[in-house]
Parts: sequence; structure tokens; C-alpha cells
Amino acid sequence: MPVVFLGHGSPMNAIEDNSFHRAWAELGARLPRPKAVLCVSAHWETQGVGVTAMERPRTIHDFRGFPQALFDVRYSAPGDPALAQRIAELLTVYRPVLDTSWGLDHGSWGVLIAMYPQADVPVVQLSLDMTKPASYHYEVGQALKPLRDEGVLILGSGNIVHNLRLFDWRTPQQLDWAVRFDATVKQRIAAAAHQDLIAFERLGDDATLAINSGEHYLPLLYVLGASDAGEPVSFINETVLSAISMTSLVVGGSDHAS
Ligand code: ZN
Repeated sequence: MPVVFLGHGSPMNAIEDNSFHRAWAELGARLPRPKAVLCVSAHWETQGVGVTAMERPRTIHDFRGFPQALFDVRYSAPGDPALAQRIAELLTVYRPVLDTSWGLDHGSWGVLIAMYPQADVPVVQLSLDMTKPASYHYEVGQALKPLRDEGVLILGSGNIVHNLRLFDWRTPQQLDWAVRFDATVKQRIAAAAHQDLIAFERLGDDATLAINSGEHYLPLLYVLGASDAGEPVSFINETVLSAISMTSLVVGGSDHAS
């Protein structure tokens, strides 16, 4: 099974018929059909690592100031408690907690509603332990790699460049540093230079601006951790809007389909 990182951007992309939403829909139709999705979303930040383990995850509307239509969305994909157990087993050394209180936040349902509109693929979420360094997130991704051969789609949902403090909603023109950092990251991904992306602080001032809070970047490290050097990488939604990059990627080809 390939591994996927999606830049999700505005929650409105979940319900708008725009180029981002359509690319997610096309991706869902083109990928081998997964038995389940494991989503690492930017929007579930914890101390310690959690795995959703409920049968019926709720739809979480974790945003403010958007139209009622977005709050009315319910994404009713089932959970997968057996997969949660399997993940807990793979991550034993990290002492994961089987969680029954979270659900699907908009980092997860906001893209899955386009990929799997029938909500018929079970979804489990993994949280971001924000007390840990970048290398930890990459290592957890490595530990999850066996799931690929078990038909599970590992999906990171965030944004490679994400700085809401510098985002200008009125004129979403490209900012030079955002375009530069997006290109740098793409180049490093294509070269499988994962260590450069783990030690992103060393990529300079652009990185400091692009990754000002970290939670939208870290899901990328799980996707890279779960991939092997030399696997093909393809990019979609290669667009920078002000201080957000929508750049998304698929790693691995049909040889990983199960
Ligand atoms: Zn987000």
C-alpha cells in the first residue's frame, strides 16, 4: 500500500468543489482500496501517544467561524478497534493509550470525505505527542511500516508550510519564503534526504517561518518514516497560498498494493 501525505489547508476544502478536493477524490479512486486508514492528523495534539479505539468515532468540528454547512457534516466511517490493538502492539515501546474519547477531527474527515465519500473505509487516528522531538515522529512512522503490507493506508494530514500568524486571508498571494521552503522540502523528499527533513531547523530562516508551531509539519515525518528510500514519490496539489502550502505526496506504487 502506498503512503500519503495531504496538505489539508482550510476546513472549507472538505465541502467545496475546488481543485484540492477534486484531487483528493481522484486519489481515493486511484489508490488500491485500503482495508482501513490510519490517519495522523495535525489536529490531535497530546502528551503521550493515543490511538482511537472506538467502534464509532464521532465527527469533531474543531474550528470556529465557518458556515453552518461545515458544522452540519457528519462523516460516519466506522472505527477499527482490532487495528487500534495492532497499532498498540507495533508501538509498544512508545506506550500508546487506546483512546475512546477523541474521534475524527477535521484533519482526518476533511480529506477522507473527498477520498472515500461513502464513509465505508474504517478510520483510526494516531495522535501527535507534542512533547517529543521530530526524530520521535519519524521513528513512530518507521514502526508503523508493517501496516502497509496489511492493507492499511497510512495518511498524514497537515501542511508542509503552515503559519497562520503570517497568513493573509484577504490577499492569499504566494510569499517568497513559503514558496522557497515548499520547493526545498519537495527536493529533499524526492532525494529521500529524510535526515534533512527531521532536522528541519537546519534548513534556515524559511523553515522557522514555515514550521512555526510544528503540528502541521510533523504528520509528514510519519509518512516519510513509513516509506523506503528509493520508492517512487509523486506530488499533487503543488500550490502555495500565502503562508500555507497545499503540496501533497504519494509514496510507493502498485507493487505495494495488497
Ligand atoms: Zn489544519
